[in-house]
Amino acid sequence: MTARILDGNKIRDEIKSELLEQIADLKRSGVTPGLAAVLVGENPASQRYVRSKVKTCETLGLFSEKIERPKEMTTEELLGLADDLNWRDEIDGILIQLPLPPQIDTKRVLMAVDPAKDVDGLHPVNVGNLVAGRAGFVPCTPAGILEILKRSKVEIKGARAVIIGRSDIVGKPVAMLLLHEHATVTICHSRTRDLPAVTREADILVAAMGKAAYVTGDFIKPGATVIDVGQNLLTSEEEVRKVFHDAREPLDALKKKGSVLVGDVQPEDVKEKAGAYTPVPGGVGPLTIIMLMSNTIEAARLRRGSRGAAR
Ligand code: NAP
Repeated sequence: MTARILDGNKIRDEIKSELLEQIADLKRSGVTPGLAAVLVGENPASQRYVRSKVKTCETLGLFSEKIERPKEMTTEELLGLADDLNWRDEIDGILIQLPLPPQIDTKRVLMAVDPAKDVDGLHPVNVGNLVAGRAGFVPCTPAGILEILKRSKVEIKGARAVIIGRSDIVGKPVAMLLLHEHATVTICHSRTRDLPAVTREADILVAAMGKAAYVTGDFIKPGATVIDVGQNLLTSEEEVRKVFHDAREPLDALKKKGSVLVGDVQPEDVKEKAGAYTPVPGGVGPLTIIMLMSNTIEAARLRRGSRGAAR
């Protein structure tokens, strides 16, 4: 049996065309949704993420502002910046790119963002709303995972869902979303005993651990839906050979680009064992930024839209 591929690029494009209609609607009533993306320091991955977020805003016709600050910035200075952005009416969404440099108190900064502009869904008010099943902003990657499952008509109600990873950004919010959709949810982490025995119970398995190709065929119940959130860069020939069983293509890619992207799930095993799965790249990744756009549009509608709340 060959597993069905859950194509994140296709689902992203579907959502994008729906968002374009919503943006046109808002613009007709004089509102252009705006996102401020704050980048502190020079982490290359963060620079890349912020660039593509700002670029997606431009493609969709949203207002965006990239705010760059040096890595020596203090917590107080960043709190001041968040406050300024909270007051600016043309800014609907505030994104503070994580991780922040070590001297900055990340929790205090995230608390300082107005919950109405917290499009990353990390303010305790939005976390609380998610837990309580109330309207609020949901972190983008988990929101994207739910879109993939729903739009691919994967049955969530009554399913056994197992999540590997308990981070605030992915694992916990995915668990909450699946619980609200009536799955029976188990969250695993680094202290879980006999992980494969737990994950083999899953009808829906979400791997969000940040360990390249850790989840092998042994972890997967035949026919399960596997959502691979991991984004791991392999940079040595030895690692690439091990993960891809000496296949030519990834080795060529390594030579050309210096790295190969792989998820948390063994890419060959999942094709054989799962019923459906998200590939890496081209699965969960494309959804994250489009859900940020969706949250920004929602923030604009709730704050400034003439038609009021949609949820
Ligand atoms: P994180 O904060 O590092 O959390 C990793 C989680 O995995 C932790 O809860 C950890 O357990 C658990 N874990 C690690 N090793 C384990 C093991 N051997 N067995 C069981 N559990 C284990 O990572 P994150 O921010 O959630 O991200 C997870 C992955 O998703 C990363 O690869 C990241 O790059 C990727 N990601 C992708 C997107 C996207 O758009 N596609 C977005 C966000 C993140 P403990 O809590 O016990 O330490």
